[in-house]
Amino acid sequence: MAVSNHDSPSVLESNDTTTEIDTEDSPESPLISNTEMVASTRNRSLAYLGSLVPIIFVVFLFTWTYVSYVFFWGIPSLQSHPSNAIVSLFLYHIFLALTIYSYAKAILTDPGTVSPNFTTQQTNSTEDSNICRKCGANKPERAHHCSFCKKCVVKMDHHCPWINNCVGHRNHKYFMLFLTYLVLTCFTGFFSLIQWIGETVFQKALSFQQIQVVITFLIAAIFGMVMLLFTIAQYRHVCRNVTTIEHMEKRRLWRRRRKQLLGLKGTRELTQSEKSELKGKFESPYDIGTRQNFEQIFGDKKWKWFLPFWNESTVDGVNWPTVFEEALPLTQQEPVDILVL
Ligand SMILES: [Zn+2]
Ligand SMILES: [Zn+2]
Repeated sequence: MAVSNHDSPSVLESNDTTTEIDTEDSPESPLISNTEMVASTRNRSLAYLGSLVPIIFVVFLFTWTYVSYVFFWGIPSLQSHPSNAIVSLFLYHIFLALTIYSYAKAILTDPGTVSPNFTTQQTNSTEDSNICRKCGANKPERAHHCSFCKKCVVKMDHHCPWINNCVGHRNHKYFMLFLTYLVLTCFTGFFSLIQWIGETVFQKALSFQQIQVVITFLIAAIFGMVMLLFTIAQYRHVCRNVTTIEHMEKRRLWRRRRKQLLGLKGTRELTQSEKSELKGKFESPYDIGTRQNFEQIFGDKKWKWFLPFWNESTVDGVNWPTVFEEALPLTQQEPVDILVL
């Protein structure tokens, strides 16, 4: 089964100055001067450093909120509210450790790079060839070219600046667990601080350390809620077996068809048949049931689902079972060449 394997949508390619540096200031060009080569190298270094800013920001946020929560609230509260402090500090450290581990794995794991030797004959794809216009790779189903990473990524979900990496077939589980444990860490901080906030915040003057704890409480509340909504949306995609890129494409087609049906003014109501036609625009051929969709990312062993120490997908990232056609079990497939960095 083949879906459109066009390059990633424009939203992922906007502001992509690095690609322009590659194509316009390529060192291979015979017309390029030494000064331009130095400038190009400097621009690339600056672009690389710039891409690390979100990760540095996250590390700073983790460190600062850790110091505020543990040293300015947790340890002093062991005297005044021992049961709350012990349980909260215990849960907070467990969730934070799992968050950091999943985060590091999401950053450091190659999302699934298409090998130059890969051919679509190695898959159950009905397409003879799907050559990437940008890097020349032979793209399998659901792979997309990422302009930030400058390569084709297997089952690309989206490029995430917060991990400076693509979310793809090989690191999708780590990314999902990072979101999950980040939300749990935020809510542990939020709920454990409510009582303290009620008792302290209305005092006449707060100390410097108490102000840090109040700010940590606000960050946990706001960040936790925003991340919860994002995480729920991501789990919905996982359970429906649709990537973020595929979802955006479906939404674009849905809007275009709705406009065609209703016209620009859109003054009338949609009929039942039109509603069901539009609903069909969101159906994914890869949606083979919630449990199986979930296992494609989290593996088929329940006890490993929420532990970021294993990553055992039930698919190879290249052969995709669909509602029309089952893929061979992994054990019966030819090993597929996915380059791992
Ligand atoms: Zn490519
Ligand atoms: Zn990328």
